[in-house]
Amino acid sequence: MFKHPRLVSALVIAAATMLSAATVVRGAAPASPLNVVATTADLASLAREVGGDRVTVTALANPTQDPHPVDPKPSFIGAINRANLLIAVGRELEIGWLPSLITSARNAKVQPGSAGYLDASQNVKILEIPTGQITRAMGDVHPQGNPHYWLDPANGRIIARSIRDKLTELSPGDRAVFEQRYKDFDTRLAAAEKRWDAALAPYKGAKLVTYHRSWPNFMERWGLNVMGYVEPKPGIPAPPAHIIQLIEEMKRQGVKLIVMEPYFSAKTPESIASRVGGSVMLMAPSVGAVKEAGDYIQLFDFNVTKLVGALKVATGH
Ligand SMILES: [Zn+2]
Repeated sequence: MFKHPRLVSALVIAAATMLSAATVVRGAAPASPLNVVATTADLASLAREVGGDRVTVTALANPTQDPHPVDPKPSFIGAINRANLLIAVGRELEIGWLPSLITSARNAKVQPGSAGYLDASQNVKILEIPTGQITRAMGDVHPQGNPHYWLDPANGRIIARSIRDKLTELSPGDRAVFEQRYKDFDTRLAAAEKRWDAALAPYKGAKLVTYHRSWPNFMERWGLNVMGYVEPKPGIPAPPAHIIQLIEEMKRQGVKLIVMEPYFSAKTPESIASRVGGSVMLMAPSVGAVKEAGDYIQLFDFNVTKLVGALKVATGH
């Protein structure tokens, strides 16, 4: 194609000039955004908040499905292969699908332990950490404590901070941008938390049942009391004896509300609700699980509004 030697050298010089110009302006303009891959839509939303136009973010798990067993698509391997940063929930949430994808992607930068890998569970508050001898009981999908920790906005703030620090490490020239964007997010989150705290304050101590153990951080944050689970253990389908016991306990304590994730079958929760004269409500465990939960703050706006409505009915005040 380039037959003329003088043209070739002119092109080489032009390319070299462009390259050095790009190096000089890096930090002043989004010359080449970092490729960020997040295992969930929640982490992706937080990465977008902090990274702005200095990052392109891809989320892997489909937020309308259970994040424990994720069907790995071939496109996931390509995304991880091109990533500068891989952000994972950790606590073995992705144990069934992420390690093999990382191996297949052959990207040394984002191997666990490398600079381009961020375990978002570092520094956050983790609940339900097994005490004593840790056995991987059959089907128990939370062997390292509860991995649904992003459902407390205080943890969301800590995750955003970890992402800020990691992005700064990978792209030091953009430090001021990441700091500014983190501060802005922090301010908006704090304002939203005031709203959510006020809305849920009247229901402190209210009892409810959840399907999976997705909500301990969320419920603890607002002083709500989860008195039982449709699943006896995370990931284990309920045997009839467990359901009978749960119904009796709900009747005894006057508990009428069952919170369910959208990806489980409503059959068992509905039948429990009908036996106790209560109701089943869906909450969004992740950004994008319902269309109203378009980003991290909207996720809580949606859940808090819905929960307040349901608690009003269930508690009669
Ligand atoms: Zn879980």
